[in-house]
Amino acid sequence: MTRQIIPVDPFDYIIFGGTGDLAQRKLLPALYHRDNDGQLPDAARLIAASRSDLSTREYQNFAREALETYVPEKHRDQDCIERFLKRLDYVQIDVTSDVGWDELKSALEMEQDGRIRAFYLAVGPGLFGPIAAQLDKHDLIDDRSRLVIEKPLGRDLPSALELNQDVGAHFREDQVFRIDHYLGKETVQNLLALRFANALFEPLWNASHIDHVQITVAETVGVEGRAGYYDKSGALRDMVQNHLLQLLCLVAMEPPSSDDADALRDEKLKVLRSLKPITEQNADANSVRAQYKSGVGPEGKVDGYLEELGEESTSATFVALKAEVENWRWAGVPFYLRTGKRMAARMSEIVINFRPVPHSIFGEAAGKTINNKLVLRLQPDESVKQWIMIKDPGPGGMRLKHVPLDMSFADNFDERSPDAYERLLLDVIRGNQTLFMRRDEVEEAWRWIDPILQAWTDTAQPVRNYPAGSWGPSQSIAMIERDQRTWNDGDM
Ligand code: NAP
Repeated sequence: MTRQIIPVDPFDYIIFGGTGDLAQRKLLPALYHRDNDGQLPDAARLIAASRSDLSTREYQNFAREALETYVPEKHRDQDCIERFLKRLDYVQIDVTSDVGWDELKSALEMEQDGRIRAFYLAVGPGLFGPIAAQLDKHDLIDDRSRLVIEKPLGRDLPSALELNQDVGAHFREDQVFRIDHYLGKETVQNLLALRFANALFEPLWNASHIDHVQITVAETVGVEGRAGYYDKSGALRDMVQNHLLQLLCLVAMEPPSSDDADALRDEKLKVLRSLKPITEQNADANSVRAQYKSGVGPEGKVDGYLEELGEESTSATFVALKAEVENWRWAGVPFYLRTGKRMAARMSEIVINFRPVPHSIFGEAAGKTINNKLVLRLQPDESVKQWIMIKDPGPGGMRLKHVPLDMSFADNFDERSPDAYERLLLDVIRGNQTLFMRRDEVEEAWRWIDPILQAWTDTAQPVRNYPAGSWGPSQSIAMIERDQRTWNDGDM
């Protein structure tokens, strides 16, 4: 099946931090793929900015290397690479000084009316406010300008409020695109399609029919030389405040009146506001924090977190939470959230566990009836599987079998599943904020997260341990098993 490619309007993407890791691994490859699919107009340009002393030619060579490293060979088209590199320009700017902004202004040819200018801040969050202020000061913001920022969007509510204020002083909210790349994943958008483009699921999408929901984001990698940086955030800030809560919102929200960005974000916000607080009183029962010890990962024996860090710390590399959405639809339905580094497998998924049938008419010989599950796999191998019971085909009487109705994208559509950034980067140009977080959502998420961090400190909740290469500490398993449920460890 071929996808319809709709070109976007002419634009300039200005990437602050164009020499950084995010630009190399994600942004340049994503824009190259869109170019290769014929989606970039001839006039589209990319201007990278950072402190490094590079000529445009040197930056083009740098970008060529990035594409050779991060775009698989079978997707590299030499003609397109040459065309793509010609779109690139480089401006040397230290954003904390006034030097370089005039050069950026002349590179942008501001007199060219009507062109969309998107400023992507692929730099540390401490520079978001200063860059927004400098852009304003140097008259680089107009009505069609957009600002793209990415996590970490604060480390608690006060810092998030400050960051949003700093940015909001120079850009209107409809110009600010806060990326959570999980929202750009095909499976996540497919969750919206499944829920709101089918009559089948929505009548069942409530506490009467759903027993519980699990959301897991498991990584096999450790902190990889960034222990000092990671230690300042930990798993709750780094993963739960953004990715896991965004997924929870999309599962739990009421149907929006349209796919308009604010209609959808209003509904997500209501979910965040309905989350039952986890505080000093209930943190022990509803949360587990842990660090990985040495163990065996996919690449062999690996050190524990504290050995990598080289000092004592209470930052968690694993968090499991039992969240509750206190409204009519979800009363009594736990949402178990779990994320960790150095886990047994790299796997992100949402599992909707339906209630058991009220009464089984089949005898023992037919085998056990297993509850229906809808499994949305975000990575690896994005897929959606609805697990149902059928009769095992063939003679031999009634034997029940648990099988997946498989809607895996790789099988049904063409071979390359586009990276989330491809979709999101062009949504910025289209001015479509549906898959981006609004200011109040980010703040509300922190309002729920901050008391958990506080409760861990106030109650001195122990930081548990788990061996690298496992599914987390035994206390996480105990937390869900106390409710007579088990984690779906990627086995569906
Ligand atoms: P990085 O590799 O350290 O890159 C930082 C970039 O910022 C470099 O290009 C650096 O270039 C530039 N820079 C630093 N100070 C500057 C200044 N004063 N003026 C102008 N440019 C400056 O970091 P990264 O991993 O790409 O991450 C960038 C941001 O994205 C961070 O906030 C990170 O948390 C976030 N993020 C990254 C990823 C990822 O996959 N890497 C994923 C999600 C979010 P020069 O040294 O040449 O100035």
